[in-house]
Amino acid sequence: MSDGVLIVGEDVCAEVVSSKDAFDAVEAVFGAMASGDAYNFPVIREAIGYADALYGFKSGFDKAGKTLGVKSGGYWPGNMDKGLTNHQSTIFLFDPDTGMLQALVGGNYLTAVRTAASSSVSIAHLARKDAKVLGMVGAGHQSSFQLCAAAEQRAFEKVVAWNPHPEMLPRLESVAEELGLAFEAVSPEQLGEEADVIITITSAFEPLLMKDWIKPGTHIACMGTDTKGKQEVDPALLARATVFADEIAQSVSIGEAQHAIRDGLIGEGDITPVGAVINGTHPGRQDAAEITLFDGTGVGLQDLAVASVAAVKAEQAGKATRVAL
Ligand code: NAD
Repeated sequence: MSDGVLIVGEDVCAEVVSSKDAFDAVEAVFGAMASGDAYNFPVIREAIGYADALYGFKSGFDKAGKTLGVKSGGYWPGNMDKGLTNHQSTIFLFDPDTGMLQALVGGNYLTAVRTAASSSVSIAHLARKDAKVLGMVGAGHQSSFQLCAAAEQRAFEKVVAWNPHPEMLPRLESVAEELGLAFEAVSPEQLGEEADVIITITSAFEPLLMKDWIKPGTHIACMGTDTKGKQEVDPALLARATVFADEIAQSVSIGEAQHAIRDGLIGEGDITPVGAVINGTHPGRQDAAEITLFDGTGVGLQDLAVASVAAVKAEQAGKATRVAL
């Protein structure tokens, strides 16, 4: 990138960053994290006592990808009523050689696409190759991105879905239809019985899926729990499963594993960074009956990785604005 600050808006991000671009960027940065070439800084996330909002910063440095920056933003639950998405964020990229601001990149689309890429990377590396049924728990903004990215990894034939608010499911059904996948709204018990791969992407604060509902061989990507207190699955399921995470420090503190750790059901040493599987230093799934669980907490380096792709591709396509500071 040349001099000045590049500005890449939301619409441009959606035009230039594909699901495959996000997959490649997130897979590479998870690998770099596991090999010690990239690290995330401690996350700041505060309830600001206004508009019910959660606001914070996620940042890090990837020495391998030369990406330094911060995503600033959070969650405004009242936005939906204003015709806006609840998650609002902006990514700032800095030149790691000089500290100068390089780019301002809209973070809303990129958050959805990098979060979908995270579960998708876990499916690519951990789910059974013959997985046919995808279970979706959650039907909010992220869920359609999750469904589309998962569908790129396995030859799914059917989607079974459950959401605490069933009136939200028809939107997800239309996404499945567009992908040519059969869709059935089911109970959570039936979802566990049928699904080979499950994605949970809700704002739940209590378990929605119990251990005994999950069949052997399932891969579960728990994507909704990204804050202390949130929870989507039975902690006993983590003791039953082989557990992987984007980042162990976040998994045990703000991720799905926080509850199993607190209850003494698993220890930190029972969790493997998915990057180790990507790098070939951990074998990943070892047999067809193993339950694998990916705790995708969402790390700043994912945001920086996709924002960097957006900046480069937007500039190449002449779709970014460059301003002098
Ligand atoms: P959204 O507000 O659009 O949808 C919320 C979803 O959670 C819906 O399915 C809704 O029915 C369900 N829900 C709401 N309140 C609930 C409750 N009390 N109990 C159970 N379910 C409830 O949100 P979204 O943008 O789709 O995000 C979903 C979740 O994913 C949020 O918790 C968000 O913080 C999280 N998230 C995680 C990452 C990550 O990297 N891991 C990234 C983005 C979002």
